[in-house]
Amino acid sequence: MIKEAIERYQKELQDNVKLVAVSKTKPVEAIKTAYDSGQRIFGENRAQELAEKAEQLPNDIQWHMVGHIQTKQIKYIAPYVDTIHSIDKWKTLEEVNKRAEQNERQINVLLQFHIAQEESKFGLDEDNVETLLENSELKQLKHVKICGVMGMATLTDDKDQIRKEFKDLSRIYSKLKDTYFVNSRDFIEISMGMTNDYPLAIEAGSTMIRIGSDIFGARG
Ligand SMILES: *Cc1c(COP(=O)(O)O)cnc(C)c1O
Repeated sequence: MIKEAIERYQKELQDNVKLVAVSKTKPVEAIKTAYDSGQRIFGENRAQELAEKAEQLPNDIQWHMVGHIQTKQIKYIAPYVDTIHSIDKWKTLEEVNKRAEQNERQINVLLQFHIAQEESKFGLDEDNVETLLENSELKQLKHVKICGVMGMATLTDDKDQIRKEFKDLSRIYSKLKDTYFVNSRDFIEISMGMTNDYPLAIEAGSTMIRIGSDIFGARG
């Protein structure tokens, strides 16, 4: 079923939408099956799990960290991670830069926004993102590349609500692009859409969907 799912997404998705196959909690064998079907981008939400899997799997996999990450765990993924989707404060960004530098590499990051109705401790809003992007030390962080935004919609059956939240993230993306990233070739990604809401996300301009259960089956 993994193979069939990957092939279905390969057919369905236009070139401007990337598939992040979210393999959290799933064994390396399942990832290998998806890899053999041509999938190269995988998402995890725990630092040590990402590092352990990266050690065992081919080097041309792009590992994405999609879940919240604690500052002290960044060192575990710094040698492996291609993109971190969950940057929501300056301290995290600074630490990613430091660990990337130690590993002599550059790490792509996305700014995570809180767009859902549910309470959450995580995610930026339109006010505190300005503080982050106007930090005078930002230009010195040479080992991180800010590539766009990420968000999760409310867990609901109300499609209008979900649509509204995705459109809001698209609007935030455009505003930031026009304000802080006018000349940037890097700030191009809007990471939104999961198994239950990705068609709505694509309608609203998603460039990266993060799909777990539809590919790998329900998580235990
Ligand atoms: C688990 C997870 C996903 C994938 O969720 P599915 O509903 O299984 O597709 C996507 N994004 C994040 C941040 C996740 O934690």
